[in-house]
Amino acid sequence: MADRVWVLGVPVDRVSTAEALGIIESWLNGTGPHLVFTPNAEIIARAQDNRDLKQALAQADLTVPDGIGVVLAARLLGAPVPERVPGIELLEELMARAAQRGDKVFFFGGRPGIAEEAARRLKARWPSLRVVGTQHGYFQKEEEGAILEAIDRAAPDILVVALGAPKQELWLTAHRGRLAAKVALGVGGSLDVMAGQVKRAPSAFRRLGLEWFYRLLSQPSRWRRGLQLPRFLLLVLGEILARRGTKR
Ligand code: UDP
Repeated sequence: MADRVWVLGVPVDRVSTAEALGIIESWLNGTGPHLVFTPNAEIIARAQDNRDLKQALAQADLTVPDGIGVVLAARLLGAPVPERVPGIELLEELMARAAQRGDKVFFFGGRPGIAEEAARRLKARWPSLRVVGTQHGYFQKEEEGAILEAIDRAAPDILVVALGAPKQELWLTAHRGRLAAKVALGVGGSLDVMAGQVKRAPSAFRRLGLEWFYRLLSQPSRWRRGLQLPRFLLLVLGEILARRGTKR
């Protein structure tokens, strides 16, 4: 297993997208469930006030550095990661491989119709992709048993959970003991992107590490969440100063 850097109490695996895919593929050849999360600066900042989220992230089998904030923090902490691993890119590449390998996939999350539309578009791109089930993410507590049974029956190799953070991390950690999947990933709003409902930033923004800024511009209702990024950086700087202080 690749080594990890701990960022404000959250482990981040120092992997590239290709390495993360290799690890996931090895799990697909065995038994599960293995949990994969994609913490970005906002999620790690939120984990500071949400102990359950922090614990869930700490118990994951793989956490990839999603976003420029985490890449920067790892560098400042003296344990750089190879590259930014956006959850959406990891998921897209995983779907391409799943189509080739014949892995069964279940999509769980998003508003009603989103998982189906994401599945339809993915199948148009990779006709051999085996989507064995879909379920929207706006369910009542008492419906959870039926959802778990539907996942059991479908017995997917890959369970894609897009309930947003922290819901997806808490849900997956709470049910890990009885999940039929070999690998389960928490992927935030990725199904919305795959269903064509939300556009990713143009490549110039991505290259410059400004995807978060584009999101703020295109979805102004997220500005409150955007404040978590400067908070995250301040907390990381605080941690570095505290470490220096204890070294002296
Ligand atoms: N969502 C859901 N159930 C909920 C709350 C949210 O399925 O109870 C979905 C929502 O429709 C969206 C995703 O979770 O598709 C969260 O998207 P967001 O962009 O907020 O993801 P994040 O930034 O948290 O990763």
